[in-house]
Amino acid sequence: TVRTRFAPSPTGLLHIGNARAALFNFLFARHHGGEFLLRIEDTDRERSTQRAVDVIFDGLAWMGITPDEEPVFQSTRQDRHTEVALDLLARGHAYRCYCTPEELKDMRERAIAEKRPPRYDGTWRDRPPSDWPQDKPYAVRLKAPQEGETVIHDLVQGDVRVANAEMDDLIILRSDGTPTYLHAVVVDDHDMAITHVMRGDDHLTNTFRQAMIYRAMGWDLPQFAHLPLIHGPDGAKLSKRHGAQSVVEFREQGFLPEALCNYLLRLGWGHGDTEILDRDEAIRLFDIDGIGRSPSRMDYVKLAHLNGVYIRQADDDRLTRDVAERLAGYEGVTADDALVDRLRVLMRGLKERARTLVDLADSAAFLGRSVPLAMDAKAEKILTPDALDVLKRLAGVMALIEPFDAPSIDAALRAFADEHGLKLGQVAQPLRAAMTGSNTSPGIDLTLAALRRDEVLARIGSVLG
Ligand code: GLU
Repeated sequence: TVRTRFAPSPTGLLHIGNARAALFNFLFARHHGGEFLLRIEDTDRERSTQRAVDVIFDGLAWMGITPDEEPVFQSTRQDRHTEVALDLLARGHAYRCYCTPEELKDMRERAIAEKRPPRYDGTWRDRPPSDWPQDKPYAVRLKAPQEGETVIHDLVQGDVRVANAEMDDLIILRSDGTPTYLHAVVVDDHDMAITHVMRGDDHLTNTFRQAMIYRAMGWDLPQFAHLPLIHGPDGAKLSKRHGAQSVVEFREQGFLPEALCNYLLRLGWGHGDTEILDRDEAIRLFDIDGIGRSPSRMDYVKLAHLNGVYIRQADDDRLTRDVAERLAGYEGVTADDALVDRLRVLMRGLKERARTLVDLADSAAFLGRSVPLAMDAKAEKILTPDALDVLKRLAGVMALIEPFDAPSIDAALRAFADEHGLKLGQVAQPLRAAMTGSNTSPGIDLTLAALRRDEVLARIGSVLG
């Protein structure tokens, strides 16, 4: 069976490049009825933080990417990594290197001075045990092949090869007894029975080195698929100045997880012209064939558009919960049950134009403000003496509408406009200004219904002064 994994290092935020790798691994496993695993690569104790681990767990859960087994923490497997390194040593596939840090530094500097690639010079590669110094620490180095080439049959990149002469004898166990990262990954992927490794193509050079460890152990290599990176809209490496980069940021900026997943899926993977794919369809259609070979460009505008599509499809109660939570952080907004009640009524109107949940919250904030509302310049302009006069008469109309819901309100406003020879806009705009302190809102009938009669009268009364 297919077994894939996502293996983030918990040293920062969950970058969308990594999130996309997680998604691809997850979809691929599901597509083939296999398993998707999570491994936290926390061997770098200095740089790994609990907060970063939480961010990964939360981010994946938010995106609906759930591992099929308990997550593996790489740091708990050090004994096993050491065991394999010592096994390689015992079988002559690795050797003891007694070079001191100073010697290695000299070696590197000499190489650079002589314009050679800075590589280990093999000092200890073939030394007999009789040369081994007593009681001195040693690192364990892999005895990498020096002739021929290493070829990786990458499922995305095709065959990629490197001359073995260019490869170093990499350290698998440091002189302080800790296993190295490259070695740990191989041992873990083997022990976790991973069949497919899908990760960023910045790992391609690591793959050559890891392949040597697999071969030395006589283990089958997994299949590799190296994913082109995600670039900014201008084609440069994605960075802060382009916009959000991490899952946390996209979440804060009001993107729905299913929209972000859909976008990340389509970014670098295609299936004809299909743009909108829900999770089930993604699982049904995803395969490695559709992954592009060149870097993809992040298009924030397209993502926002897609997010708008998903917001319009989203359940109103869910949107209400999220927006109420966001509004709790707004100054001057009372986030109480009344607000939730208003949001629930107005949501179907609000969601029509929003592209993000932040847009939604911004456009709904007026619901949670209390009288007197601050009036912006557009509202001031609407509230002419004539308009105030209209509002005064409308207050009387409001008191009589029964039931106080959108259809009855709409009918009453139309009748009122007819009766006074006004256009509907001449009725709606003063109301809108009084209700929102500005000049935009969803349909005025729905807006009034959401605020409910008492609040509508309070807001009209407040502008009439
Ligand atoms: N831990 C590595 C990273 O976060 C990924 C290693 C891998 O996928 O093999 O970049």
